[in-house]
Amino acid sequence: MAYKIDANVCVGCGACAGNCPVSAIEPKNDKYEIDPNVCISCRACKSTCPVNAISQ
Ligand code: SF4
Ligand code: SF4
Repeated sequence: MAYKIDANVCVGCGACAGNCPVSAIEPKNDKYEIDPNVCISCRACKSTCPVNAISQ
């Protein structure tokens, strides 16, 4: 199951996008969003997020 970003918590820093090995994370409306069709559930983004906005 793909990971997802809670837009109410995300501060749009982009740290997660830089750490995704498959480029599944793109900016959207000043926040970031994970494409569930691309995400391989590696968890790398989750440990990078400073505000814990990412969950599975
Ligand atoms: S879980 Fe891995 S593949 Fe999925 S968005 Fe996060 S870093 Fe990218
Ligand atoms: S690392 Fe967290 S706060 Fe930064 S863009 Fe990604 S989800 Fe948003």
